[in-house]
Amino acid sequence: MYKDKLTLLGTEIKRGDSVCLQFDVAKLHTRNSIQVPIFIERAKQDGPVLLLLGGVHGDEINGVEIVRRIIRNKINKPTRGTIICIPVFNIFGFLHLSRKFPDGRDLNRVFPGSAKGSLASQFAHEFKKEIAPFIDYVIDFHAGGADRVNIAQTRCMLDDEKTLNLAKVFGAPFIVQSKYITKSLRETFHNLGKTALLFEGGKSMLYDEEAIKHGVQGTKNVIRYLQMKRFKTITDTKSVIIKKSKWLRASHAGMFHVRIKNGAWVTKKTLLGIVTDPFGEFEKKIFAPFDCYIFCVNIAPIVNRGDAIFHVSLEIEEAEA
Ligand SMILES: [Zn+2]
Repeated sequence: MYKDKLTLLGTEIKRGDSVCLQFDVAKLHTRNSIQVPIFIERAKQDGPVLLLLGGVHGDEINGVEIVRRIIRNKINKPTRGTIICIPVFNIFGFLHLSRKFPDGRDLNRVFPGSAKGSLASQFAHEFKKEIAPFIDYVIDFHAGGADRVNIAQTRCMLDDEKTLNLAKVFGAPFIVQSKYITKSLRETFHNLGKTALLFEGGKSMLYDEEAIKHGVQGTKNVIRYLQMKRFKTITDTKSVIIKKSKWLRASHAGMFHVRIKNGAWVTKKTLLGIVTDPFGEFEKKIFAPFDCYIFCVNIAPIVNRGDAIFHVSLEIEEAEA
């Protein structure tokens, strides 16, 4: 929590300020510069600093839309503390609707970066030096890669009490135990002693209205909990905590048809999907091997043997509201 001077990228942010800063990423060979717009709203009253981050992966547009709606509806104007919004973190990737940086690197695997590293690594380094130290809480919005559709969920280490508490406050349908990925933004924030929550909803390259609504509502719940702003509508949602999970894999190659609703609770032997050949010769049914929640579904039309097709719960717990 910053009580006095808040200086970001060389600009002093005073109490009551509403500022848009440009974070320089790179100068291109075409003489164009690439800049990441950062929207900062500092209340007159001191309080925590919350960062809302979209588009770390440039093709995960749900997160961009969530942060955009938060700005559009002025949810990011606190009465206490500071809310920083970065709707498109990986501008390069977003321009091309690609997950990666132009140097082919995944921005979420190069943190904390280095001053002399690759382009993505230099950007990560600058961010860690210039922005990250001032943040108390971060919500990082993602979507399933390729054809994997995530039902709205937050991810954290369940033994990290502060983050788990924030996940419960957020109130997405599911909270999924997830280890820190090496060199990820979440790991870097954690190592800096910050509370970092990861949201997953829908899949890349697709607007998923339900996931977007959960993302916006969850953020409002967190803002209210941190006493940064009041909202008229209050929703108290209970999440299901998934303590252990497992991927069900395709036993055959073929055309894949999903027969279950994502997010559903299914009992053992419920039909989940069918894999067929294109010639009408075989149809292989996929059944639930045990009672479980389905919280991610691969909607690829064609699958190979061994492809991950359903992410399911092995051990669950109901979170108290
Ligand atoms: Zn992502």
